[in-house]
Amino acid sequence: MKEITVIGAGTMGNGIAHVFAQSGFNVTLIDVQDAALERALSTIGRNLDRLIKKEKITEADKEATLGRIHTSTAMDEGVANANLIVEAATERTDLKLSIFKAMDASAPADCILATNTSSISITQIAAATNRPEQVIGMHFMNPVPVMKLVEVIRGYATSDATCAAVMELSKAIGKMPVEVNDYPGFVANRILMPMINEAVITLHEGVADAEAIDTVMKLGMAHPMGPLQLADFIGLDVCLSILRVLHEGLGNPKYAPCPLLVNMVTAGYLGVKSGQGFYLHTPGSKDLVVAPNFR
Ligand code: NAD
Repeated sequence: MKEITVIGAGTMGNGIAHVFAQSGFNVTLIDVQDAALERALSTIGRNLDRLIKKEKITEADKEATLGRIHTSTAMDEGVANANLIVEAATERTDLKLSIFKAMDASAPADCILATNTSSISITQIAAATNRPEQVIGMHFMNPVPVMKLVEVIRGYATSDATCAAVMELSKAIGKMPVEVNDYPGFVANRILMPMINEAVITLHEGVADAEAIDTVMKLGMAHPMGPLQLADFIGLDVCLSILRVLHEGLGNPKYAPCPLLVNMVTAGYLGVKSGQGFYLHTPGSKDLVVAPNFR
């Protein structure tokens, strides 16, 4: 495998393109927006500069990495020579199904089609194609260049050969792949999101304030960040939508989202992206300030 196409050049897509290119693969990065492609290239450049500063790579490595990344807004051309496509477009089922139909029509017959979805069924996405045995989940963690894990998700029809190829490829880009099966939330979010939800319920019931809850989990469980702060970083809307996938998909009331989380999302308090969630987030400030509602 040499030719990798990444669809979607947002937060995850630029990181995925970066790690493949840095490991010597040719990458075609596709987005519907030119501006997203420009932003992605400048983010990758900045992240490579950081690695130069830390003396992990040289200036020549940076140039070579950037030289292996080509950008395009034309999906059919961008997938025509791909050995592997990693789809990292916006998390919407209808969008993913239409992208997979289009990829299936234009990509070479032996190309593997992977998705970085956090919560949509791999089996459902695979069923939109004529090659469900070559469709797989490749769930990278944010920030991609830093985080070691790739959750490799086997859909109902994914073949052993596809799974083995993706496990091997993940190792070739310096990641640690872990194979899991396709059920709602896979493993990462099935365990993480109920913990975040329980932290919100604990806050909602007045057991402790936001700072106390996060401090207990940081100092007591050696988590690098408390669950409420982490929820702010992930986005409260993203947390809510994944909890809904777990609740509906597994049919168990234990996954019901806390009403406080629902209210915050409805009111537009989404965490870092909106400037306020459980904490206040001021651009440029690293101070952790609890939001007024939770003091
Ligand atoms: P994002 O909003 O930052 O980027 C999505 C990009 O997809 C945008 O640039 C958008 O223009 C592009 N796009 C939309 N429709 C497209 C199309 N038809 N063709 C090509 N590009 C298209 O989103 P993100 O946070 O990078 O998330 C991408 C995927 O990764 C989602 O499936 C998400 O669930 C998953 N994911 C996100 C995280 C995270 O922490 N952000 C972590 C793991 C997985």
